[in-house]
Amino acid sequence: MAQPARLAPATEPWKDPAARPYVRIEGVTKTFGKVHACDDISLDVYRGEFFALLGGSGSGKSTLLRILAGFEAPDSGRVLIDGVDVTALPPYRRPVNMMFQSYALFPHMSVAQNIGFGLKQDGMPAGAIRDRVQQMLELVQMPQLGNRKPDQLSGGQRQRVALARALAKQPKLLLLDEPLGALDKRLRERTQFELVNIQERVGTTFVMVTHDQEEAMTMSSRIAVMDAGRIVQVSTPAALYEYPSTRFVAEFIGGINLFEGRVLGHDAAAGILRIACDALEGGVLQARHPDPLPEGTAVSVAVRPEKVDVHEAAPPRADNVAAGKVRDIAYLGDVSIYHVETASGAEVRVQETHVERSSEPHYDWGDTLWLTWPATAAVVLTA
Ligand code: ADP
Ligand code: MG
Repeated sequence: MAQPARLAPATEPWKDPAARPYVRIEGVTKTFGKVHACDDISLDVYRGEFFALLGGSGSGKSTLLRILAGFEAPDSGRVLIDGVDVTALPPYRRPVNMMFQSYALFPHMSVAQNIGFGLKQDGMPAGAIRDRVQQMLELVQMPQLGNRKPDQLSGGQRQRVALARALAKQPKLLLLDEPLGALDKRLRERTQFELVNIQERVGTTFVMVTHDQEEAMTMSSRIAVMDAGRIVQVSTPAALYEYPSTRFVAEFIGGINLFEGRVLGHDAAAGILRIACDALEGGVLQARHPDPLPEGTAVSVAVRPEKVDVHEAAPPRADNVAAGKVRDIAYLGDVSIYHVETASGAEVRVQETHVERSSEPHYDWGDTLWLTWPATAAVVLTA
């Protein structure tokens, strides 16, 4: 699961120290009474990115988006768009539009009137509005449906009208708060790809709020993981998955095994830490970690279930070996997840991909299995 479906863009401006960010958030704090909704947040987003703010409910995502839009003023800090400080500007003076989860379509207006509403308010001539509306309808693949009313549309079509309306004024920056939240799971997955496709065609910078990690992984160029008003990590989907920087991120993104232990020593030549851990045969876990850590340091070691190899007999030498009995099997169609309990009481989750068609899980409850993984599959976390 959670493999990024979207390739990293050919250019990665965030790796270029000379690249100028399109959106710059500088030390933004926003409190509501005692709640730190945004706690000293700094973040750069580059032109053309599809950027996701990902976090659990109440982590401050919507507040940060509303500050970007200008619906909320920060207590301190600044927001710059294209080098201009917009912190004191009202929403309509910013080159920004926002798409709400509820869509907020006008029920008495046709689809075309909904899409053209903002253009009409801006005093655009009727002919130009008609052309732009048609262009937007084509963009969202609804060229024939301009005369319908919102209640004559499916949920997915209403979502596309809301998107067309948000893009009609050609904002430089589009903010989307849980844009697919009202759609059922299957439609949501299909719409994810459509939305990315449209974003690539119009080239507008998107900042999207979501609590759904698979959605963020599938759609985004980069993801900022938020927790309690702070940004914990900003990375590409692949880097977030492979190199989480904290336990929180490791557990939030995809399935993971976390082993607790203390550092025994560091092999500087191989860049490998030796960690005391009861869950492993021999009581030692080996994990690649270029930097030495002092002996005795408490660490968590994260290992993804799909990086663990399963054996029915004691395997030959391996960096890491754990043995235990199958306690739980989750059959998910494309994969099965086995929960293996070691003699020390630790639970290790392993994933088996089904390549051959079979209705039987490979292993059974109570089977003894040996699990191995290379030192390079393990990520050492100290926070
Ligand atoms: P998210 O979008 O990540 O779910 P929010 O940004 O909506 O989180 O909220 C972050 C925190 O700020 C929550 O504790 C929420 O209750 C609080 N909060 C947000 N807006 C307001 C408000 N207008 N008044 C009081 N508290 C608010
Ligand atoms: Mg929210």
